[in-house]
Amino acid sequence: MKIGVLAMQGAYREHLKILKSLGIGAIDVRYEEDIDNIDGLIIPGGESTTMGKLIKTLGLYDKLKSRIDNNMPVWGTCAGMILLAKNIVNEDYSHLSVMNISIIRNAYGRQLGSFETKAPVKGVGEDIDMVFIRAPYIESVGENVEILSTVDGNIVAAQEGNILVTSFHPELTKDLRLHKYFINIVSKSINDINCIVAQ
Ligand code: GLN
Repeated sequence: MKIGVLAMQGAYREHLKILKSLGIGAIDVRYEEDIDNIDGLIIPGGESTTMGKLIKTLGLYDKLKSRIDNNMPVWGTCAGMILLAKNIVNEDYSHLSVMNISIIRNAYGRQLGSFETKAPVKGVGEDIDMVFIRAPYIESVGENVEILSTVDGNIVAAQEGNILVTSFHPELTKDLRLHKYFINIVSKSINDINCIVAQ
């Protein structure tokens, strides 16, 4: 199993380190051809406008979008979630537009919006460590999107098929449960592909 981490900008090193510590073949994704060699992808936190521009300028946009549309598992943390959303309520653009969620960017305010908490995430744990840094949250979800976690009434984690998003940064904590949860999604998707091929 190979999991890529989009390495344009932002907190990608932390994700790579955690994946490696869990024994996963983790590769940094910088070029279009890197996307051919992965079974799943993490899009890290950082600055979504910059990351969104870089995936276009460096020529990764089309292949990323088509692999995600074809069910490659992907997990967006914070800015990564902004890149995956179909609708950004307080902007007039969207990026990869693959997940049926409406999100609010910098939903907690720009400067004072950073905090830590623990909250339940469905299917993952009751006391997941969450670090929010100028985070977005999900205002509403469309059909087939499962809400996995809310904090103070705001949706902070959700899943639509193989697409997972979290407003917060698990890679900046010692809590590895969300990484294990995502690895599980990737391994199920590899099994599904093998079953289709075997039929
Ligand atoms: N505020 C950033 C943005 O809008 C996201 C912050 C983060 O990823 N920690 O892109």
